[in-house]
Amino acid sequence: MSTFRALVVTKPDTGYSCNFADFDERDLMDGDVTVRITHSTVNYKDGLAITGKSPVVRRFPMIPGVDFAGEVIASSHKDWNPGDHVLLNGWGVGETHLGGYAERARVKGDWLVQVPFGMTHAQVMAIGTAGYTAMLCLMALEAHAITPERGPVLVTGAAGGVGSVAVALLARAGHHVVASTGRPEEGDYLRGLGAAEVIDRAEFTGPVKPLGKERFAGAVDTVGSTTLANVLSQTKYGGAVAACGLAGGMDLPATVAPFILRGVSLLGVDSVQCPAVVRREAWRRLSGELDRDKLDAMTQSIPFDEVKDIATKILDGQVRGRVVVEIG
Ligand code: NDP
Repeated sequence: MSTFRALVVTKPDTGYSCNFADFDERDLMDGDVTVRITHSTVNYKDGLAITGKSPVVRRFPMIPGVDFAGEVIASSHKDWNPGDHVLLNGWGVGETHLGGYAERARVKGDWLVQVPFGMTHAQVMAIGTAGYTAMLCLMALEAHAITPERGPVLVTGAAGGVGSVAVALLARAGHHVVASTGRPEEGDYLRGLGAAEVIDRAEFTGPVKPLGKERFAGAVDTVGSTTLANVLSQTKYGGAVAACGLAGGMDLPATVAPFILRGVSLLGVDSVQCPAVVRREAWRRLSGELDRDKLDAMTQSIPFDEVKDIATKILDGQVRGRVVVEIG
């Protein structure tokens, strides 16, 4: 195949545009492994890249898509051979390196993770960067000794991708999970994933007190801004908040009071440059600890053609859970 189908972002003088195109295989970037992509997914960041709403894409032309799963078709990397089943999350793919919304990718073998035994390409993309980030948040809270006995844990943006997986993982780990959402109609969905309580996200959008009532031993925050500031002020003495998102904004209008008067910790979580050894551990745990029925319940599949529509919806907070993109 000398050309393959891809979604391509360009930025001519007339502005930002994103369209399907036949991409020449010779224009793939450097890498020691070539993959036939079968599935990708849509994360919030992919929505930003496709629409151009934030400057996520830093090279043009770009194939967006920060995740993919597929089969190795050529490799000069010591760890990979043709026929291997691999997945990729982050590393700048879909931002600075040609990404996952394509039938082919050429990447560094060091960026790839083996698809866990017993999982399909569709299942690992149902997890995707969002689900793998949720596991990184769980691991960060565990490293801070946030055990179920210490009290409830909060998940903000709970009906979204990171939020849905975080609810399921934390509930399975035995936590009393409080799911915060702006979509009360998703209450049954969130309880089905394991939430013990579903609350209105408006509880975290009001004025920020330096110290609020101590409610949560820990939290996974996907929203940022005023929400994160309020969550910090309502975290119990010695608790911790794993912050991974900015769906509500990038600012943080907080005070230092929770840190210096309650010993609260703010744990930053990044999936993109996360070291390979930590990724492999996250994926090993995801394959064993994420209930497959719950994963199915939070996932919809779409044909490649519909990826642009979903990109707009995810930025509007209209996508529930996770989306798998069927590439080929
Ligand atoms: P989703 O859009 O699937 O989920 C975000 C959720 O946040 C929405 O479903 C909604 O949940 C809530 N939300 C949306 N807008 C607002 C708002 N204005 N105020 C308050 N809540 C809002 O996105 P993802 O799950 O893919 O990503 C979530 C966040 O995490 C994004 O900011 C993303 O960039 C970030 N992220 C960061 C990573 C990292 O490496 N640090 C990796 C992956 C994601 P509800 O309707 O339930 O309120």
